[in-house]
Amino acid sequence: MKVYKFGGTSVGSPDRFRDLIPLISDGELKIVVLSAMAGTTNSLVEISGLFSSGDREAATLLTEQLRERYHSVAGELYSETAWSEKAHNLIDEQFNFITSLLSRDFSLHNERRILARGELISTALLHLLLSERGIPSLLVPALNFMRIDKDGEPDYFYIRENLKRELTALKDEKIIITQGFICRNVNGETDNLKRGGSDYSATIIGAALGPKEVQEVQIWTDISGLHNNDPRYVENTRVVRDLSFSEAAELAFFGAKILHPSSINPARMKNIPVRLKNTMEPEDEGTLISASSALEDYKAIAAKDGVIAIRIRSDRMMMAYGFMRRIFEAFESYRTPIDMITTSEVSVSLTIDDATYLDEIQRTLASIGHVEIERNQTIICVVGDFRPDRVGSAPEIFEALNEIPVKMISYGGSENSVSILINTGDKIPALRELSKKLFPEIQ
Ligand code: ADP
Ligand code: ASP
Ligand code: MG
Repeated sequence: MKVYKFGGTSVGSPDRFRDLIPLISDGELKIVVLSAMAGTTNSLVEISGLFSSGDREAATLLTEQLRERYHSVAGELYSETAWSEKAHNLIDEQFNFITSLLSRDFSLHNERRILARGELISTALLHLLLSERGIPSLLVPALNFMRIDKDGEPDYFYIRENLKRELTALKDEKIIITQGFICRNVNGETDNLKRGGSDYSATIIGAALGPKEVQEVQIWTDISGLHNNDPRYVENTRVVRDLSFSEAAELAFFGAKILHPSSINPARMKNIPVRLKNTMEPEDEGTLISASSALEDYKAIAAKDGVIAIRIRSDRMMMAYGFMRRIFEAFESYRTPIDMITTSEVSVSLTIDDATYLDEIQRTLASIGHVEIERNQTIICVVGDFRPDRVGSAPEIFEALNEIPVKMISYGGSENSVSILINTGDKIPALRELSKKLFPEIQ
């Protein structure tokens, strides 16, 4: 069996929904993981934001606008009124639930329940569409099996056992539909796998069932595979046909938006290949991510925004031991992961992307040394061949960044990447200059 995940644009309109039918009804058994229709989760985030700020009127207005959008999609999607009636009813049920939540007190749980509606509706619409066409499919609610533990990590044992139980309902259907993104947390409440989390749902399902049952996870989106630079900012990018799990995981973690930051880890853990495909060009082979890939000097570049740099300087650090432990403890006690780190004799520079406990961390670090915080930073990650026995320490990267202030460099931590910290304002010129120097043949 294969797991196919379709992103927001792949279900973004009635035509796009219809285009999925030939892709998924080829007679091979598959689990189809769907995102919400493009733009929906953004609107639901906006509705929750208004709800949390107490502006229920604006939240309700936006909810009604979204409801109308869905009714117009349902009005076009089905050929027979019997099926569109069913769709209109389920849309009203979901939106009435949102309005009922809006009349209660705001809570994080209510926010997550609002955010879950997009995937619940898109999967139900596809299920009805297939039924109208006489194509049997089984709709398995993700909230019946997808679960994260107290650390926010997938609870694989629970997921496997519960998904297997759900799949016992399978008769002769070849298509199993489920929601991406949504899950339950350790308290059994509705939760989610963070923005873009449907990719992660797909690979978690693959890993939970294991490589004997799932031969490949396919992530279908609006571009033919992972490009060697961010196509939103750089012209003349090209598809990277093969990536190793490690290379893809670094690119995803450091900002390649085509993949959720954690989505490669489950596939790597169980050695299940991941293929990135384009719903608008299904013939294109896309990108294959697997255990090994050909090494190249430079393969791809990604950028991650929203990074905060923290510098701790203390003369007492010179020749002393125990400083690092105290610094790391400050981050550990506030459950804040460190992304990049560089050290000198008297100072440590590091980056985080979660500012929730920044004030508390800053106060704790102030007892160790002088602390400086810099926001609006971006990590540029260059993936290529950086094995330690290679000669030539990537001169093209530093030539490309000649005119751009470089704040930190992490070289040697990974055999397949170099990370560089710059101001976010310099990101676009940095990506473009790097493209020119590292991939001159496609400029
Ligand atoms: P989906 O809704 O299908 O999950 P996303 O918007 O999350 O789609 O991801 C696809 C988008 O990622 C592309 O349209 C592209 O603009 C963007 N993107 C950013 N970096 C890359 C990259 N290196 N390769 C391909 N696409 C990228
Ligand atoms: N719908 C969710 C989001 O927009 C999950 C996803 O699309 O992967 O973040
Ligand atoms: Mg996505």
